[in-house]
Amino acid sequence: MSERGLLIVLSGPSGVGKGTVRKEIFSDENTNLQYSISMTTRSPREGEIDGVDYFFKSRSEFEKLIEENKLLEWAEYVGNYYGTPIEYVEETLQSGKDVMLEIEVQGALKVRNAFPEGLFIFLAPPSLSELKNRIQTRGTETEELINNRMTVAKEEIEMMDAYDYVVENDKVELACERIKAIVVAEHCRRERVAPRYKKMLEVDERC
Ligand code: 5GP
Repeated sequence: MSERGLLIVLSGPSGVGKGTVRKEIFSDENTNLQYSISMTTRSPREGEIDGVDYFFKSRSEFEKLIEENKLLEWAEYVGNYYGTPIEYVEETLQSGKDVMLEIEVQGALKVRNAFPEGLFIFLAPPSLSELKNRIQTRGTETEELINNRMTVAKEEIEMMDAYDYVVENDKVELACERIKAIVVAEHCRRERVAPRYKKMLEVDERC
């Protein structure tokens, strides 16, 4: 049986650029990661495709999934539900492939409880003023909403302690390189590699 894959959780405050970094990582065709497509009740944005960007669901469909325990985690974010389908994650990990989730902080904390062996990466802004700048340049929000988001973002930054690694998103390419390096290093962890060598020593006594 192949070794179980790694569950990699990429998370961080609203506006930090999680989506952009994740898309950049998956645009590299040498990436060996599988992306877990989330479910959401928010409406598709222009250009978004059902089953590619998200599985778009109605609130009642989503609530049924919660009831039936079909989600690894879920959270309500700005009035919409977001959640990770459990079956895809389990099957992919079981087949030995790594899975990446790109989710907000509350959801990441729930995954940490269910999968403490996962790899938790916190994407951090270079500074609070830069984060505010990024939220403002989305251009869709009022001053009051921007301030609310900043309050939430500050609380989320305090949750950094629940993560294994912190990656600064100063430049998207640099952040992606750091994340890929962390994944490689994680695969070389003694605890992951040693059992394979122990088995080798037991089986092959001719050498
Ligand atoms: P957006 O609506 O901009 O695509 O996403 C809003 C937020 O929801 C982002 O922070 C994104 O990372 C997060 N998100 C996307 N999918 C999931 C999910 O399955 N679970 C949770 N908890 N958050 C998610």
